[in-house]
Amino acid sequence: MAGCTTGDDGGDTDGDDTEDGDGDVGDTGGDDEELPEGVSAEEFETGPVPEQYRTATSQGDETRDPDALVSKADAQFQEAEEAVEEGLAQEGNSCGNCADFIPDQNGDGFGACSEVEGYVDEADWCALWEEFEA
Ligand code: SF4
Repeated sequence: MAGCTTGDDGGDTDGDDTEDGDGDVGDTGGDDEELPEGVSAEEFETGPVPEQYRTATSQGDETRDPDALVSKADAQFQEAEEAVEEGLAQEGNSCGNCADFIPDQNGDGFGACSEVEGYVDEADWCALWEEFEA
């Protein structure tokens, strides 16, 4: 009976932050994000994105034209956190609150953009960021 502490039954698990457990190996070097299943690194960067995004309308009502997109490199596309660290982005600005963002529509965790090619995560950012006013 000795040694009972209050309020902690030890039943919770934590640290469970993986979804599928089959970590991708063989990604191209650097700071890759985890790719959606079946999507190559090249497709992730330059598209094509899945059908439902190709001519979709962004959350700020911009229509995506797959023939008039900017490359991620030209748009200085990167993770929002890194962009803030580099002094490029303001804290709090990311694709998730950009007018050009097309949110995830197929449950893979990635959306797209009406201006920039390839797959886009809401935690990314690029130099074309535009405030989204809901
Ligand atoms: S920040 Fe750039 S990549 Fe992200 S949604 Fe806006 S325009 Fe697209």
